[in-house]
Amino acid sequence: MASLDRDEGVVLRMRDYAETDRILTVLTPRHGKLSLLAKGVRRATSRFGGALDLANRVQLIYYVRKKGLHLLREAALLESFPLLREDLDRLEAALWGLALADRVLPAETPDHAIYGQVQAFLRALAGGVEPAVGRVAFSLHLLAVAGHKPCLEGCLACGSPQALTWHPGRGGLLCRSCGGGGTVVPPKVWRSMAALTRLPLDRVGGLRVDSGTLAHMNSLVEVFWHHQLRR
Ligand SMILES: [Zn+2]
Repeated sequence: MASLDRDEGVVLRMRDYAETDRILTVLTPRHGKLSLLAKGVRRATSRFGGALDLANRVQLIYYVRKKGLHLLREAALLESFPLLREDLDRLEAALWGLALADRVLPAETPDHAIYGQVQAFLRALAGGVEPAVGRVAFSLHLLAVAGHKPCLEGCLACGSPQALTWHPGRGGLLCRSCGGGGTVVPPKVWRSMAALTRLPLDRVGGLRVDSGTLAHMNSLVEVFWHHQLRR
C-alpha cells in the first residue's frame, strides 16, 4: 500500500489532466519539487476547494507512489498573496519567476534555501516591490542558490572595475584587458546587479533603479540564464 507523506509547498505549475483532474508541480521545503495528481480538482464541488492555485502556499497530504505521480489527498490554503492577484504586472512577474524555478530546479531534491527564496520573492512582490526589480533580483538570487552566481564585483580574471563586458560562458564580467569583447556594460548597471544580489529579496524594494538600467539588467540576466540552461 502507498504510504502517506505531508509537506507544505508553493504551487509552481498546473496543467489539466483527464476530464476533471490536474497535475500540479509544487515546490516544498522537505521534498523539493513534487509532481502531484489532484483528482477531481476541476469539479465545482472539489474537496480541494480553491486552495490549489498558482503561487498559493498550501499544506499537502499525499500518497507517495514509486511509479508515476504522487496522489494528492488533502490540501489546505496557508497563504494566497491577495495583493499579487490585484495587479497584473505583479502577478505576471510572480508567474514568470515560478516558471523559471520550475524549469531550473531538479525534481525531488529538497533545498530549504531555494524554498525560502521563492517565498521571499512572492512576499516582496505582494509587499510592493517594483515587479521588474523583483524579477531581476529573483533571477540573480536563483542563479546564486543554484550554484551559478555570476561574478559581478569587477573583472572575474583581474578584479578591475574598468571596461567590463558580459561573458556568461566565463561566469560574468570580463574586462577588455583580459580578453573581454562586445559592448561595455555601464558601471551603473553591473553595480546595481551586484547590489541586488547582495540584498535579501525582502529588501530589494529600497534600491532605486531607473528603467533603462532595469531593462539592461534584465537582458544581461536573461542571456546568462539561457547560457546556464543550455549547458
Ligand atoms: Zn580583467
